[in-house]
Amino acid sequence: MSPLALAVDIGGTKIAAGLVAPDGTLTEHRRTATPDGPSIVRAVTELAGPLAARAAICGIGTAGTVDPRGRIASANDLIRGWAGTDVKGAAERALRLPAVVLNDCHAAGVAEARIGAARGARTALVVAVGTGIGGAVCVSGRVLTGATGSAGALGHLPAPTAAGVRCPCGGLDHIEAHASGPAIERAYLAATGRALPLAEIGRLGSPVITGAATLLGRVLAGAANLVDPDAIVVAGGVSMLGRALFEPLRAAYLAEALPGPSAAPLLPAALGADAGLVGAGLHALSHLGDA
Ligand SMILES: [Zn+2]
Repeated sequence: MSPLALAVDIGGTKIAAGLVAPDGTLTEHRRTATPDGPSIVRAVTELAGPLAARAAICGIGTAGTVDPRGRIASANDLIRGWAGTDVKGAAERALRLPAVVLNDCHAAGVAEARIGAARGARTALVVAVGTGIGGAVCVSGRVLTGATGSAGALGHLPAPTAAGVRCPCGGLDHIEAHASGPAIERAYLAATGRALPLAEIGRLGSPVITGAATLLGRVLAGAANLVDPDAIVVAGGVSMLGRALFEPLRAAYLAEALPGPSAAPLLPAALGADAGLVGAGLHALSHLGDA
């Protein structure tokens, strides 16, 4: 019988767990609300503990930057008290399984690269555009984590504009400050005086979306010029805007990308909200034996 991974996804509002098979099949899916940082390990143990005996390894995807030792190097205010937590150590003690910990965008990237929209691509660039903008560079189904765990942080690449908009990280005019869901809503409010949710702005086909998509397309082209991917996957809530986003995104991408990378298709994500959970499991299974 193929080994199973106990997968856990720790997000700002919910924690999900389940068993993941090598083909990405998810079973025993369960979830609970995310408590404050210090109580998360106990919540994970209560949720996932009953499944541990059926798994060979545990894969944990979590919000925040995960350092090479499986600790939370930094996390935003979404989960209070989470930064500094030794997730790998605490999970291994509580679940009595070897554990592999990675950033949740990295986990979702692994899933899209292995069984999702970029399945079969040797090098995949995955960008998640939602409340923030995250990303992952995956090569042969493995994610590049980098020296400190922050590789693939597409949201903090400079946008080609000097509008002077502050990014949540403190930087100026990073693409997250211009093309995340909240950034698009703020730009719409500034342009029209009307506060509307993103989906409504999308239905109206506002030039604000064209502007954000154009900046994002140029940034993705810059990233693609660096890594020369076979495919680029666009995930997250903003990707749900569909053609209103993808048409100007593709046009800006093609105008900026070098002849080689310009051939990489820009694809909507194939997996839904479970991508991070499934990817954490697949990532762990690929580390079976060296965790
Ligand atoms: Zn930033």
